[in-house]
Amino acid sequence: MSLEFRHIAHAYGNTRALKDISFTAPQGEITCLLGSSGCGKSTLLNLTAGLLPVQQGSVHIGGQLLADESHAPPPEKRPVGLVFQDGALFPHMTIAQNVAFGLPKSGGGSHVIEEWLELVGLAGLGERYPHELSGGQQQRAALARAMAPEPQVLLMDEPFASVDIVLRKSLRRECRALLRQRGATVIIVTHDPEEALDIGDQIVVMDRGRIAQFGTPQELYDTPSSAQVGAIFGGAQVISGERAGGGIVTAFGTWPLSAVVGDAPDSLKLELLLRADGFEVTSADEESALVVRDIRRTGANTQIVLANDGGKELTIEHAEGEMPVIGEQVAVKPRAASVLAFAAAPTAD
Ligand code: ADP
Repeated sequence: MSLEFRHIAHAYGNTRALKDISFTAPQGEITCLLGSSGCGKSTLLNLTAGLLPVQQGSVHIGGQLLADESHAPPPEKRPVGLVFQDGALFPHMTIAQNVAFGLPKSGGGSHVIEEWLELVGLAGLGERYPHELSGGQQQRAALARAMAPEPQVLLMDEPFASVDIVLRKSLRRECRALLRQRGATVIIVTHDPEEALDIGDQIVVMDRGRIAQFGTPQELYDTPSSAQVGAIFGGAQVISGERAGGGIVTAFGTWPLSAVVGDAPDSLKLELLLRADGFEVTSADEESALVVRDIRRTGANTQIVLANDGGKELTIEHAEGEMPVIGEQVAVKPRAASVLAFAAAPTAD
């Protein structure tokens, strides 16, 4: 069942937490809500689960009204499962009892529970109490508890945040495989772009209560709707520029128009999205000399940190050719169509 939001708005007193949110989380897919703290992610989950009333707009599951201003079924009447950041298992119940909690009494008994424990990698641990499991295991148990009643929609609020970083990657891969295999419609809240790219089929980028962009990870990377959305993914930097004569004047040199894609109208202030892998290092010329300030090896890549004479830094990835040395004066040349240009945004709101 798809989960659809139509024109949702929500305020806490004078704080407008959500402003006209509309999107559909498709059936059987994972949709990530990505945004910094306070942008309204939890508010959207809570009003879907029935922990908050819908003030404006409506929520639909499989085309049927779930909740609006005048229709507000209680949480337990909604076909929606919830997983919180810390798992929130009942501490006085065993893992098996926790998983059994949401199941109907006639719901298949202990073999169903054992099946779920096996699916999340906790086979044989049903008799333990939550404090006898590691953080990662507790989070798996919470996942099993939320999924066992087979809700049509699963809402997960920062579900991997309390799991240590080494385990987090493998847990979210397993979790993605499991969710996809069960065909669940899932919304996962995260503030971590890498996590959203890793686990989401779609990403909803939220910014101060609004949707900045909705799309697949590839769409967000290739065609971001603004320099800011682009900067969230793929190690990009945003600088300002201005079109003058036949080129774009920036703090790091004047670049040909052929380097730029997007909206670059004449003599308008621009925001330029630079990808670290979009440059070549060339010899310094009179117009634009940059100093190599640092060279960092990060796994397979080498990053070169350059600074202009005002001290402003640009980090690029070394691709081919001779490696410059720290202190050397160089220039950079963007590759064709590697810089995305946007008309500088008026201040939001
Ligand atoms: P996120 O989950 O993205 O961090 P929230 O949905 O928790 O964002 O919050 C959105 C905005 O609403 C924030 O400005 C937050 O301070 C405010 N807010 C959230 N809950 C309450 C509340 N119970 N009372 C007042 N303001 C709240």
